Amino acid sequence: MSFGRYISPERDLGGGRMQCRNQLDGEIFIAAIEEGRDLFALERGRPPRNPRWCRFLHYTPAEGMYTCMIYRTRPRFCREYRCTRLVVMDGAGNKAGKMVGKTGLVTEDEQLSRIWEMQVKPILLKERDGSMEEIRKKLEEAGYQVLLYE
Ligand code: SF4
Repeated sequence: MSFGRYISPERDLGGGRMQCRNQLDGEIFIAAIEEGRDLFALERGRPPRNPRWCRFLHYTPAEGMYTCMIYRTRPRFCREYRCTRLVVMDGAGNKAGKMVGKTGLVTEDEQLSRIWEMQVKPILLKERDGSMEEIRKKLEEAGYQVLLYE
């Protein structure tokens, strides 16, 4: 998840526990390294392999895949995450909507819903290169922030 780069450890509490902040919504949470995970793989201060990756995402050779080292204590944003190409945040940084399917949006924000129907959907229906950047620009002009997962 590319938004993992917004999760930053703030204080080592010992015993594999860390106080962290999710910069996207300000949530402060206690992350606990999953039992049996390699603590050495999570050296404090070591940058993730890709700066866009979450520092808690690590390759586990035994399983042959990348896994979340703090799965049971991951932040709310991660727990509520559903596969999407785009998430919209309001001016205060709160989650305002999430794209679903090819053209849909889940939101309770009426203004955002109107903008989506009248200005964003027509762009999506044309499906051409650069569409997502065009959408980002439109929403940012209306005061929203946009996270693209592409
Ligand atoms: S689920 Fe885990 S690895 Fe993925 S972004 Fe959240 S904390 Fe990071």
